[in-house]
Amino acid sequence: MTIICSNCETAQFLQIVQSRVYFEDGEMLDEINESYECTMCDATGEYIYDRTRGDEIVKGDVEKTDGRPKYA
Ligand SMILES: [Zn+2]
Repeated sequence: MTIICSNCETAQFLQIVQSRVYFEDGEMLDEINESYECTMCDATGEYIYDRTRGDEIVKGDVEKTDGRPKYA
């Protein structure tokens, strides 16, 4: 799983500006929330994984890809 910039179609310039992990009962991983910023085009986006719902949510100008990262 790779997060890429929707505009640049690459993960090359993405950086995580904020990464939060929420725990339930101090042990079980409950939610991951990562904020991304592309240093090339200034796009921003978020990746959220909700364990309790088994959901992955991608917001903003980023995309999740299951394939190999594409490099321009
Ligand atoms: Zn970009």
